[in-house]
Amino acid sequence: MKDAESNKLIVIVEDDPDVARIIEQVLSDFSFRTVWCRSASDLLRRLRTLAPDLCIIDLGLPDMDGLEAMQRVRAQSACGIIILTGRAHISDRVMGLELGADDYILKPFEPRELVARVRSILRRRENTQSNPARKIAEFSGWHFNLGNNTLQAANGEEHQLSTSEAELLKVFVSNPNRILQREQLMGTRNLSPTDRSIDVRISRLRRKLEPNAESPAFIKTVYGAGYLFLATVNWPEENP
Ligand code: CA
Repeated sequence: MKDAESNKLIVIVEDDPDVARIIEQVLSDFSFRTVWCRSASDLLRRLRTLAPDLCIIDLGLPDMDGLEAMQRVRAQSACGIIILTGRAHISDRVMGLELGADDYILKPFEPRELVARVRSILRRRENTQSNPARKIAEFSGWHFNLGNNTLQAANGEEHQLSTSEAELLKVFVSNPNRILQREQLMGTRNLSPTDRSIDVRISRLRRKLEPNAESPAFIKTVYGAGYLFLATVNWPEENP
């Protein structure tokens, strides 16, 4: 595990050098490679040449709103994203998840807790990308590539999904036309069944997939039971 992790590149976007140093220190203690960016513009410049496995992004950056920086990253990379925030407002956290973050951490934080979150996201990424026989799922004109977490519409328009969204869609396409309880959809995450992030991810997926998000055709809510993915799913690589 440690050897596999030691190749992972984590980009830290944080203007406070003390906080950045703590994060760099604990991640390198666990053999991760790290790059520190002091600003959003620094990050966007580095992303031209770096392919991070995960970015830790402070929401309070000097030159750009962290949420906007995060969206820029998400638009060009399927890397894991953790939001770091000193703001205790729930709206920022929910907004961050809506915009494609995989997790968030509030300041002040326990460094080992941060490492645990980083590892959890990286592990989930490996899981969603580890079954080469089931790499492409097709349903109703959509192509979902589980290898790189992209979702392509019939008209060719491509959406880059976050790790969390891809993980959720993977559960759906692997279990179509079955009622799935919230607990089954939460995958490997240890969340309470009341955690809002599952609803946030469902609504994000619906906005991408559903022609009419008010009256969803694919992801149906089954009141009191969970959700149901209504589609015929083909795995072309399994049945060439
Ligand atoms: Ca800051």
